Amino acid sequence: MPIFIVLLGPPGAGKGTQAQRVAKALDIPHISSGDIFRENIKKQTDLGKEANRFITKGELVPDDLTIAMIKERLSRTDCESGALLDGFPRTPAQAEALSKILSEFDGKVNAVPYINVAEHELIERLTGRWTCRAQGHVFHEKFNPPKRAGVCDFDGSELYQRDDDKVETVTRRIKVYLEQTMPLIEYYKKLGILIDINGEQTIDQVTANLLKALEKVK
Ligand code: ADP
Ligand code: AMP
Repeated sequence: MPIFIVLLGPPGAGKGTQAQRVAKALDIPHISSGDIFRENIKKQTDLGKEANRFITKGELVPDDLTIAMIKERLSRTDCESGALLDGFPRTPAQAEALSKILSEFDGKVNAVPYINVAEHELIERLTGRWTCRAQGHVFHEKFNPPKRAGVCDFDGSELYQRDDDKVETVTRRIKVYLEQTMPLIEYYKKLGILIDINGEQTIDQVTANLLKALEKVK
């Protein structure tokens, strides 16, 4: 049976950081909706141009565009054994769509680790984040610095600060999360698949807790 995991948490909780490690450990693809949008923006596709109008303001990209994009990604053969979703779903409509898409592939959402981090900590994490141009690896100037400033440890590409990591946009993104994404915690709790993870520990500790919790899910 495939295993589908949704990583939930506010912007800056550490979803991308953890997803790269956990997906590798479980040998399933890491699907980040934000990374796919940024790839489309880089290539200046129609989807990228449309999505960018919302992303720069810290708003969510409309559900129909986002759902169609994820559906296409999940239909690829590398998802036959499952996937780790990071940043999707972000609204109740997206959560409903996801379960419908997965049921078409005889799958379902098996587990939803929720990485919980206090709001003041999120702002510090996001405004100090440095992202790699080539593959979206993430670093933090204080909490997780690269070996050489401005250079990705993993692929040597340039690190940059995302436009939407400016303090004004970060504040908006957190508000949007509280209004539109927080209801998903209750939604997945009711389904009995939410797993609380304390995100205010070192990156290694969070990874260890996630892997331990997901061991029981398989
Ligand atoms: P998200 O994908 O949830 O938005 P990221 O994984 O990109 O979050 O992490 C946001 C920032 O916080 C990055 O700069 C990352 O290096 C840093 N970070 C991630 N996890 C931790 C942690 N446990 N402690 C301190 N900083 C962290
Ligand atoms: P992220 O990389 O997850 O921080 O996402 C960056 C931005 O992409 C978000 O602030 C949104 O504008 C957009 N985005 C990513 N995932 C979604 C989603 N599931 N639904 C709507 N917008 C999204």
